[in-house]
Amino acid sequence: MRRVTGPTDRVVVVGAGLGGLACALHLAAAGRQVTVVEREPVPGGRAGRLSLDGYEFDTGPTVLTMPELIAEPLAAVGEKLIDWLELLPLDPAYRAYYPDGSTLDVLTDTVRMAAEISRVCGPREADGYLQFVDFARKLWQLERNNFIDRNLDTPIDLLNLNLVKLLGMGGFRRLQPKINQYFRDPRTQRIFSFQAMYAGLAPHDALAIYAVIAYLDSVAGVYFPRGGMHAVPKALAGAAEKHGVQFRYETTVARVETTGGRATGVITDSGERIAADVVVLNPDLPIAYRDLLPSSARRRKLRYSPSCVVLHIGSDRAYSKIAHHNIHFGASWKGTFDEVIRQGLLMSDPSLLVTNPSHSDPGVAPPGRQTYYVLAPTPNLEAAPFDWHGGLGRRYADEVLGVLETRGYIGFRDGVQVEQIITPDDWAAQGMAAGTPFASSHTFAQTGPFRPGNLHPSLPNVVFTGSGTQPGVGVPMVLISGKLAASRITGSASGIGPLAGVRHE
Ligand SMILES: Cc1cc2nc3c(=O)[nH]c(=O)nc-3n(C[C@H](O)[C@H](O)[C@H](O)COP(=O)(O)OP(=O)(O)OC[C@H]3O[C@@H](n4cnc5c(N)ncnc54)[C@H](O)[C@@H]3O)c2cc1C
Repeated sequence: MRRVTGPTDRVVVVGAGLGGLACALHLAAAGRQVTVVEREPVPGGRAGRLSLDGYEFDTGPTVLTMPELIAEPLAAVGEKLIDWLELLPLDPAYRAYYPDGSTLDVLTDTVRMAAEISRVCGPREADGYLQFVDFARKLWQLERNNFIDRNLDTPIDLLNLNLVKLLGMGGFRRLQPKINQYFRDPRTQRIFSFQAMYAGLAPHDALAIYAVIAYLDSVAGVYFPRGGMHAVPKALAGAAEKHGVQFRYETTVARVETTGGRATGVITDSGERIAADVVVLNPDLPIAYRDLLPSSARRRKLRYSPSCVVLHIGSDRAYSKIAHHNIHFGASWKGTFDEVIRQGLLMSDPSLLVTNPSHSDPGVAPPGRQTYYVLAPTPNLEAAPFDWHGGLGRRYADEVLGVLETRGYIGFRDGVQVEQIITPDDWAAQGMAAGTPFASSHTFAQTGPFRPGNLHPSLPNVVFTGSGTQPGVGVPMVLISGKLAASRITGSASGIGPLAGVRHE
């Protein structure tokens, strides 16, 4: 494995996103002197917090899988997850609503899930589900140790027996046909393949290896931290601080200082210099290259994931039939992906995610009130440079609210007490390339060793962490990226730890 060369005692981590925090904890555990410099007043980055009139909203991720990956950086400094976070398992993990009026609960207990699929789609489909679980579990075991939880220097690092096994399992064929081998009902075909969108692709374009996202989502368990997802970065930052990591909040790094082909520190926007032996960059990778590093000869052109509009709504309406996570599928399937990804259009027949955090934790809303988080996939700003701030955001939010009213949220608009609309323009303003919070997409050419690497190609002591680098996007991958970045500095081997301190209620 390639490593940072030269001294590594003092490390400056730019950004307290989940990637930066995980990295800081692993570095502190290895005895490094770590300073985290964060632009915002709180940690978390995309896993941030919006407080509006007594309502508390998570600004980014809502689906938390693999809590053992939160336990891991905590365990590195001798802390237990249970002492920092209370995790509530979600049952169901999702409730899916289909255009024919049927619903399907996604239950992470496979026996109960098989019964649920049998109830909705018949026993043959339930058999297919059990075979799919076997397939996806094997896939995850193969991918985790060999391809995800490992620093890869060159594609040659992939050449091992497990690659042959993955090929044999059809991992490099397309996801949708692979899913359709197990499922015949369009409803199960959708609920086990829509996760390709998390990787920035349509299920008919994504590689079958991404069936692991469906596995993590719908088989391995989905959790909600009491207090909301923002409790996760707060816990990691709290533990890091306890173990000697220094945090400089509300401090923006203007550039990385370099001398003689090495980084020597960072310069803040107020002109302060913070010296470092190694600099770790957690901001969105293409933006870090563009704004913080000396311009390099040629930057690689990346293909970006679609973006989204998020509506944060505090409401006096409760809907007894909904779950914590609700996916409302439109009738169109392939057409919806084509609109958003290929044609740069807004969905004509939207599929929407509605999260109702106060369903699980009433503490996030004033007494008797509810919080809703509505996510609508949209094209990114490269696919469609819409003027969201020029009125489109409001118009689109009204359209989405109207659609929800026709899908069972009676009186949704009248119930709104507070509201905030976040659009691709806002993601761009927060420093995310192409106005998408989901980074570069996981096409074959941007996956594994082909994704932008976590070592700078010419500055030997600049390291990247976060969703723009390897292994990829989403909370689990970003936490792993923090560990992989730290191991570039310390030289320690990686490997997912035990389920330390994870509390199942
Ligand atoms: C709406 C939405 C929904 C999502 N849903 C899910 C989900 O359900 N499940 C899931 O697993 N993932 C989800 N994700 C993805 C997940 O949130 C991200 O992949 C992950 O949080 C990214 O973490 P990061 O460490 O790469 O970056 P970030 O969280 O962006 O952290 C980067 C940090 O760097 C700071 N920074 C930037 N520039 C500077 C500078 N110049 N100086 C100092 N500090 C700087 C930023 O303020 C930020 O704190 C979602 C994301 C969004 C936005």
